This record gives sequence, structure tokens and C-alpha cells, in this order.
Amino acid sequence: MCAFHHCDVCGLAHVFTSHDNKRHLCSSHFISDIESRVFNEFSRLSVAGYKRVIIAFSGGKDSSALLELFARYQKINPVFSITALTIDEGIMGYRDACIEAAVTLANKHAFEHTILSFSNLFSKTLDDAVKNNCGRACAICGPMRRKALEEGAGLLGADSVATGHCLDDEAQSILMNILRGDGQKLMRNPEKKREGLIPRVKPLRLLHEREVTLYAMLTGSYSILPPCPYAASAVRNEVRSLLNSLEYKHPGSLLRLIRFQESLWSNRIKN
Ligand code: SF4
Repeated sequence: MCAFHHCDVCGLAHVFTSHDNKRHLCSSHFISDIESRVFNEFSRLSVAGYKRVIIAFSGGKDSSALLELFARYQKINPVFSITALTIDEGIMGYRDACIEAAVTLANKHAFEHTILSFSNLFSKTLDDAVKNNCGRACAICGPMRRKALEEGAGLLGADSVATGHCLDDEAQSILMNILRGDGQKLMRNPEKKREGLIPRVKPLRLLHEREVTLYAMLTGSYSILPPCPYAASAVRNEVRSLLNSLEYKHPGSLLRLIRFQESLWSNRIKN
């Protein structure tokens, strides 16, 4: 059972306890803590010259929280021109509900919203593409979605694509790249400008998944959606449970993986 604590800032009932530093926060101080951390990141992106941002917006909790944060930031500091871009992979019984949630939230914030589908871009849905190979659905879906996002961002004249990847997602990707022996991917900083590629920025990359989920719930941007029917087959699920258990026993493990990758990016590790 969850023990009762008071908010460390104002003394009201807490809604969140941080595993790392055992801080207790009430709803409004939790929201302002998240916003100050992510708004700092938005300021950094603005100073770095990003102005025309596409939000990769699936309608799920992470991208919905990201959209909400951008909407709130724009109210006090309207430095970005933003379009939400939803990719419809064509997954029966899953994507339609996500698109409905995405349209509702984009309308609520009066963001421009574009939907591109695999069937228009590649002349086939994901369901068609994986008909005889369901076990590799995520491996097939990932590159198609990246290409679709790249094309959409190019069409919309974006200088960056913002995604809702959180600390948990990033740590999982690092470990998966290590397990696959894919050093090239591990070394690739998606934010770095490269010829012919639109940089990816990840303003939530230092937030735990449970922080992103709670923020989405407390700000009314969370929708209950069905899980992707192919998700259960993902190797990522095994990596996720391994890392969750490590983070539980050794708080800070996820963040240390991120810092490890950053040290590779900045060439701080020498032979
Ligand atoms: Fe695509 Fe896999 Fe995500 Fe489903 S779980 S949307 S198949 S990457």
C-alpha cells in the first residue's frame, strides 16, 4: 500500500514520489517540476535555432504529454511554429482509436495536424506488410514509420522532428543496440544535423515513463487506448522488464545508460 506523504514544497497530499531522490510532490508542484525541466529543454532547442517543429504525434500518452507541454510553453513563449504529424500505419483495431484521440487533442490546442498513412506512402498497410511475418512486425514497422515521418517533415518544411521518447525508451534503445552489436546506431546522435536528414529532438528523454504518464493524466491529455496487437512480440518488452527491475533495485541505472551514450557522442571515451 502506498504510504501517505506531504508535498515537500507546500505540505499538501503527495501524488508522486521520485525513486531517485525520494522527493514527494503534490499535483501542482509535480506539474510545475515537469514543466520547468521540459521548458528548459525547449529553450535550449530554440537557442540552437530550431523554429519549425513537427511533433511526431501518435495520440498515445508520451506524444500527448509532449503536445500538451509544447502548447503550454507556446502560451508564454511562442517561439516555435508547430504542426502535429500522425502516421497511420494501418493496424486494424488499434490505430483508429489513437487517431481519434490525436485529432481531439490537436484540435483542443488549435495545432495544425497532418495525418499520413502507410497505404498512401507505400501502397500497403502494416497489416499487409507483416501478413506472413507477425513476429517481426516492430522491425518492419520502425523503419517504415521513420521514413514516413521524414517524408512528412520534409513536405511540411520542418527543421526538426520532436518525438515523445522518454528516459525508459531511450535506455531500452541503448541496451538493444548493445545487444545487437550495433555500434553505429549507438554512436548516432539524432539531434546532430546531417546532409539530407531532418534532426530528431527528444525533449522528454530525461523523464521517467511514469512521470510522463502521470503528467498526461493530471493535465487531461491521457486517453485510454488499446495496445498495439503486435507489441507483445517485441524484443523490447524483454529489455523493458530487465531494465525496470534494474532501475527498481539500483535507482539511476536508466539515467546512467543515457549519460554513457552521451559520453560516446562527445568522444569523451578514448582508446
Ligand atoms: Fe509498430 Fe511495433 Fe509500435 Fe506496433 S508496437 S506501432 S508494430 S513499432
